Amino acid sequence: MGLVAYGAPQLDVPVRLNVNENPFPVPDSVVQAITNAVAACAGDLNRYPDRDARRLRTLLAEYLAEESAVNVEPHHIWRANGSNEVMLQLYQAYAGPGRIVMSFEPTYSMYAEYARTSNSTYLTTGRGAEFELDLDAAQTELERTKPTLVIIASPNNPTGTAARAEDIAQIATQLGSWSGLLIVDEAYAEFRRPGTPSSLELLSEHANLVVTRTLSKAFGLAGARIGYAIAADPQVIEDIQLVRLPYHLSAVSQVVACAALEHRADLRAQVAVLRTERGRLHAWLLAGGWEVLPSDANFLAFGKFPDRQAIWQALLDQGVLIRVTGPDGFLRVSIGTPQENDRFRAALQSVHAQAHSGGSHAARGHGDTTSPS
Ligand code: PMP
Repeated sequence: MGLVAYGAPQLDVPVRLNVNENPFPVPDSVVQAITNAVAACAGDLNRYPDRDARRLRTLLAEYLAEESAVNVEPHHIWRANGSNEVMLQLYQAYAGPGRIVMSFEPTYSMYAEYARTSNSTYLTTGRGAEFELDLDAAQTELERTKPTLVIIASPNNPTGTAARAEDIAQIATQLGSWSGLLIVDEAYAEFRRPGTPSSLELLSEHANLVVTRTLSKAFGLAGARIGYAIAADPQVIEDIQLVRLPYHLSAVSQVVACAALEHRADLRAQVAVLRTERGRLHAWLLAGGWEVLPSDANFLAFGKFPDRQAIWQALLDQGVLIRVTGPDGFLRVSIGTPQENDRFRAALQSVHAQAHSGGSHAARGHGDTTSPS
């Protein structure tokens, strides 16, 4: 059929900054807690897991009260194998043949894939000059197409842009007039800068709002595959039950997530380091003459490169793997450990120096023209 499966290259290179993982290994205290929790449940694996994931939902509610100062009751929380599965389930429950899902490009490419696998129609509209939501354009398009589902990543991948709370609120209100649902994908929420609000704060006023989150990024548990959603209306959780597979979240996943949540204080320090490192890297790129998009996430989009594929390859040749994604001419780099970020800076500097001595395409600076790759 000519379709290509989604997936970034998984290459065995020294510095991997291509899929926005948390670069720090799981701390020893958390490894120990996870090991003990798995050992304690192993003997019971002859039984199906708790279908309602009660302990996990209680801990998630506790965590959210702490992280975003929002009180959420466990029956408003859904959980699955990564927020990818949560979002697909939302499409399966609410979209489907003859229904429209809308998002705002450039954004996370899986949104189109969920539409393909749920046989929904996926429409996109653009963003403003700074990759913010262009509310006027959005409202016109929404009115014209009346989607069942709108999905917005905030902070957005690949640009790092957080949506304004007013824009989210307006879109939710507008969608409400034809019973549409708004999903705000907050996979990167914990990395947002001070003063950037979470859409969790809007849940009490917008019954058609669902916020998705994950333990893959800030919690550094991408390998464990645990994501969740918080719905303003608990009916959404009931609706997802209609499409989920029986016992979809394994007992092992549940205890791993609970152990990590119980040790969340040990993980918080990593997020603080990554936010500081993001600031340093942003400043360094700017000082070097590159264009960098302001980011509330654990990655930076920077450019512009006439041939971004060539830069990506040259960095890879030096053992640094980043991602060819983002607006034309931009590349995306995940924030690594301080040592990895040093390696990235050194590699980019040397690629730049080579390009200038060799007269290749790898020029930098605002004046460069861009070309799609
Ligand atoms: N949302 C966005 C915007 C992402 O970038 C990603 C991961 N790349 C996810 C969701 C998926 O995360 P997971 O399934 O690991 O929770």
